[in-house]
Amino acid sequence: MRRGPGLNRRDFLKLCAVMGVGAVVTLYSSEIKRVVGQIAEESGGKIHLIWLTLASETGCTISMLQASDPDLIEAVEKLSVSVDFWKALMTPDYDLGWVSAGYTREDLSQVPLLNAAFGDAPVDVLVVEGAPQLGAPTGGSPGDFCTVGKYNGSTVTGYEILQRLAAKASYVIAVGQCSSFGGIPAGKGNVTEAVSVTEALRTAAVTTKRPIINIPGCPANPDWTLVTLATVLQGFDPDLDELGRPKAFFSSYIHDNCPRRDAYNRGQMAKAFDDPVGCFWDLGCKGPITQSACAKTKWNSGTSFCTQAGPMCWGCMHPNFPDPPTSGFFSPVELTPTFVGLTVDDVGEVAAAGTAGVLAVHAIRRTLGKTKEEANSPRQKEPQQPGQSQEAE
Ligand code: SF4
Repeated sequence: MRRGPGLNRRDFLKLCAVMGVGAVVTLYSSEIKRVVGQIAEESGGKIHLIWLTLASETGCTISMLQASDPDLIEAVEKLSVSVDFWKALMTPDYDLGWVSAGYTREDLSQVPLLNAAFGDAPVDVLVVEGAPQLGAPTGGSPGDFCTVGKYNGSTVTGYEILQRLAAKASYVIAVGQCSSFGGIPAGKGNVTEAVSVTEALRTAAVTTKRPIINIPGCPANPDWTLVTLATVLQGFDPDLDELGRPKAFFSSYIHDNCPRRDAYNRGQMAKAFDDPVGCFWDLGCKGPITQSACAKTKWNSGTSFCTQAGPMCWGCMHPNFPDPPTSGFFSPVELTPTFVGLTVDDVGEVAAAGTAGVLAVHAIRRTLGKTKEEANSPRQKEPQQPGQSQEAE
């Protein structure tokens, strides 16, 4: 795909984050359509998108169905996308004339996928929901935990399909925590050897045309996914951080914009989840270590998000979720509250100062047993994906 006209590429995604995907897609729909039309003309049709589902519970598809402005149908129409395969949304009788081409009813629903992977059907954008599984079940072969159909009489694994489609696509977008970082399928134990899309392709030595875009979250935010899709369809490469996440949505920490932040600053800690105001730190909130725009853009048409609606932040967009440091879910994060510049040495003085005394109690508990160097560390460093460079920081 090519670069689109008009908007500065850096500003497009930022603008989407500020205005909301609906407004931007509407405002720039003619421009997007023109660019998409050009691309479609060159490629001989519409923009072809495959939504590949691997190990997951389809929550990101359900999340996409909650997109409201625009909704999914509107977005697909406005963006002139041909969704060639999206298993969870296809009916069992989905038929593009493949039966007359000799395919059986049994493999009918997989035909567009297999044709894209093994045939000459175009793939412009590959969206992956769920984690690739590399392991071999007892008596089976690597990847056999997830099979997606048959081709030429042989069983095809999701891992093989992923490799073929990823090598072919102009853009690969990992939507959700499982495809971005492994998520729950790759959690402790991990008998199926589930990994992120990035790790799976690296293991298979498959190179993609562009860096893989990761939109983590359990589920992924539908608006952020549509904005990212609109961005790449307009021919722009989103600015990504060192974990492959669009910076527009994953630069700040939830803690920095949380509506309960004032309570945190005052040392007003909630003792139960039905506390309407208090900070959830003591209940195990992972907002201080989780980067995401949840608190800025919110969910469900900007209605609310976790720490506003009731529960704490579970850290579902943190690259380690659901393993430490995002678990145990009800254990406070091991951080020094740096907003008051506390260090182990300062604690004695601060403890005498009113509200700060409450905070000092928390600081003492968290810093107990740590070295001074650890205690002064401003923020737990998020781990890199294997093989990724530190240079982008
Ligand atoms: Fe909000 Fe959690 Fe930070 Fe408290 S600890 S201010 S609830 S993000």
